[in-house]
Amino acid sequence: MLNERKIRIDTRSRTIMVKKRTCSIKACNREAVRSLALDRVEQTGLKVDGEKRAHLCKQHYKEFKKRTKKDRKIERLKWGI
Ligand SMILES: [Zn+2]
Repeated sequence: MLNERKIRIDTRSRTIMVKKRTCSIKACNREAVRSLALDRVEQTGLKVDGEKRAHLCKQHYKEFKKRTKKDRKIERLKWGI
């Protein structure tokens, strides 16, 4: 009985993970591959739509990484969290 329950929960969480999200960047509708703190993305000057999390597609995540590279302090904070 207990095992059965566990399996059910696993299946449910997998469904949530698979759920597709689109990129939070304005005028971009590609599939998001990364989820980041919204304020961190805004710091780079990218225009995002959202509340707490920003979901970025592959292309915009690359752009985000490129921009954060310039500021080592932001990069360090990222690893500190
Ligand atoms: Zn995008």
